[in-house]
Amino acid sequence: MNRGGFEALDPCVHCGFCLPACPTYLATGDESDSPRGRILLMRALELGELPPTDPAVREHIDACLGCRGCEPVCPAGVGYGRGLEAARELLVRANGLAWSARAVLGVFRREAWWRPILTASRWLRNTGLPRALAGQGRVGFAMGMLDASRKDRRTGSTVRTGRPVAAVRPSSPSVALFRGCVMDTLFRHIHDATRRTLEVNGYRVVDVAGQACCGALHDHAGRRDTARELVARNAAALAESADYVVVNSAGCGALLKDAAHFDSSAAGSALADRVKDVSELLAMTGPVRGAPLPIDVAYDAPCHLEHAQGVTAAPLAMLAAIPELSVRRLPGSDKCCGSAGIYGLLNPVMARAVLDDKIRAIAAAAPRPQLVVTGNPGCLMQIGAGLTAARLPIGVAHPEELLDESYARAEMN
Ligand code: SF4
Ligand code: SF4
Repeated sequence: MNRGGFEALDPCVHCGFCLPACPTYLATGDESDSPRGRILLMRALELGELPPTDPAVREHIDACLGCRGCEPVCPAGVGYGRGLEAARELLVRANGLAWSARAVLGVFRREAWWRPILTASRWLRNTGLPRALAGQGRVGFAMGMLDASRKDRRTGSTVRTGRPVAAVRPSSPSVALFRGCVMDTLFRHIHDATRRTLEVNGYRVVDVAGQACCGALHDHAGRRDTARELVARNAAALAESADYVVVNSAGCGALLKDAAHFDSSAAGSALADRVKDVSELLAMTGPVRGAPLPIDVAYDAPCHLEHAQGVTAAPLAMLAAIPELSVRRLPGSDKCCGSAGIYGLLNPVMARAVLDDKIRAIAAAAPRPQLVVTGNPGCLMQIGAGLTAARLPIGVAHPEELLDESYARAEMN
């Protein structure tokens, strides 16, 4: 019998080891907001003991961030994320989605819609207006998120020589850059940095047309059908494109590594087998050391890199290639920041409560870091907006930006 993913919850023995790892449980102290409590609700949902229209079921399943922080700490190997996906699909089928979620997911389904909207957002960001308006309140926070997508001045001060990169040869391993939607518009500077750092490390980066949004937003919101459609488009576009498909957004990477789950054709598994986070590819080569960058940074692990992909050491190995860069992990750096796709739109109060814990840990650090570094666009925007709202003069950056700046300085010498 096909149980749609609920079977992944079967190993749960209700030990409760996962409770301290769950940001929503830590925020409310309510067992129903914990992984163990939600597993009971999801099982009752599957067995029909509770209807999908039950308000309590909806409230507590909706409040889950989908961060999967409960998975690595579980001694029984419960596949919480798979179960959550099945439960969300069931709830959405029965109750539908809020209009705001439908609107956002509809936009990200079609490039003809998301590209002009995000390009206009980038123009707005570049006027400096969001920076002036960033702060508290819903509008101030939204402006802070947009402003946090710009390049931090500490990672982009060096003009490049434009010399060709000697490490790239026709026989070099080829890498197709997964472009995504938000990354290809608001964070294009990170794509540029990714290309350059891969080339310095001997990879040949190829452009592949016809890609779509990865579908992670849709999958997390219970629209598995749309996620399947988008994965199939990406699997077709990226088929036989390169030795690897490199991703610099943790959320997209987690979804694409799981492509075989969404697309059962040979193209789905061929895509899943070739996907690597950029830090994994760079860690495989060393990576090449750059010039000194004397900045004090706090590394914050994106949930979908650390928990969903199990990539923990590679980003730190990458940053270790930068002489004089001081890198720390602060308490709670493995916990969700509250971004979680469109979670902040649907659950703004919980999203802020979860973020506030992280901002408090950063504010309490002695000495305070100059930058918070994390490899996911949603986390960069959420943490950046939180730091601005708390009036902390700390920037945010992607690890790729730091390595790229370090290489640019080495190029000048
Ligand atoms: S999910 Fe894992 S850690 Fe949590 S209660 Fe179940 S068995 Fe224990
Ligand atoms: S996915 Fe995250 S928020 Fe949801 S139960 Fe697990 S740890 Fe808690």
